[in-house]
Amino acid sequence: MATAITDPRELLAMLDLPASGLAGAATANGLFRLRVPRPFVARMRRGDPADPLLRQVWPLGAEGDEVPGYDLDAVGDLASLRGDGIIHKYAGRALLIATGSCGVHCRYCFRRHFPYADENAARQQWRGALQQLRTDTSIREVILSGGDPLSLADHKLADLVRTLDRIPHIERLRLHTRQPIVIPARVDDALLTWLGSTRLQTVVVVHVNHPQELDADTGLALGRLKDAGATLFNQAVLLAGVNDDPAVLATLSERLFAQGVIPYYLHLLDRVRGAAHFDVPRERAQRLYRELSARLPGYLVPHLALEEAGRASKTIIGMDATSGDIAT
Ligand SMILES: *Cc1c(COP(=O)(O)O)cnc(C)c1O
Ligand code: SF4
Repeated sequence: MATAITDPRELLAMLDLPASGLAGAATANGLFRLRVPRPFVARMRRGDPADPLLRQVWPLGAEGDEVPGYDLDAVGDLASLRGDGIIHKYAGRALLIATGSCGVHCRYCFRRHFPYADENAARQQWRGALQQLRTDTSIREVILSGGDPLSLADHKLADLVRTLDRIPHIERLRLHTRQPIVIPARVDDALLTWLGSTRLQTVVVVHVNHPQELDADTGLALGRLKDAGATLFNQAVLLAGVNDDPAVLATLSERLFAQGVIPYYLHLLDRVRGAAHFDVPRERAQRLYRELSARLPGYLVPHLALEEAGRASKTIIGMDATSGDIAT
């Protein structure tokens, strides 16, 4: 994480791209800073300003546009906060905001405006969060999210997991992380030791949007997580100019599966301020999804989903406007 690229000029130079690409970057970079780890940069194509990995991390002037319907709190997280860094929206699952740091800054991220300094479960050694988890016996699954929980040091995560192990009603531990993808070396012995020794069933949800993000190193990292007993899923976000193409999405599913990962969700973009240029309109998304489904076995087709404030689950939408739950 310490050697991640944070200077737009340096990133352009590494990719053999002209400095003219800097126009607009400065303002957007001031809103949400560029951050991209070197192993991820290494998978970008040189000399291609439209590279799908670059597009996910490159600050664009368009982020400064105010677009109606794109808000600071797109998914109603602020209303679901219980304090102590816990978001409890859905039955049986409590999400812990383990940290505000990420290995990579994704431009479309719905948490880019989140008040991490105030809402962070680790801030007071998890005390408040753990108290809530102990007293609410309806919680069967603890989800570590953020930010990226694997930004935390292993001794902190090991301590947390040891404590969770002793709460009898908790059965599953889920991590939502991009680190095994953007910094595969993060999956090291220390991580595998605590992950492999908990009594909890472990689930790791990675976040891969494009097949080019997967290489031999991610394959190794994911294989080690699987060998440590974790069930691996992927969630992707449908992003204009990155993966809004059925062939790309089909290759993504197949390459994920080849690395031991089951496609779980394909999310429509959360309507967060600064991300409107990534939007794929719902009807087009459903058309793409129909084409994707025609190319793959059912178990490689992720749920097409979106998150709507105030609902009891993610909203799963189908292939056409007449199926699924129409909320808008
Ligand atoms: C998405 C999300 C979950 C997990 O939902 P699943 O459908 O179980 O993957 C849990 N809590 C919050 C706050 C979420 O946003
Ligand atoms: S929370 Fe996830 S999607 Fe958002 S910036 Fe961090 S790694 Fe990217």
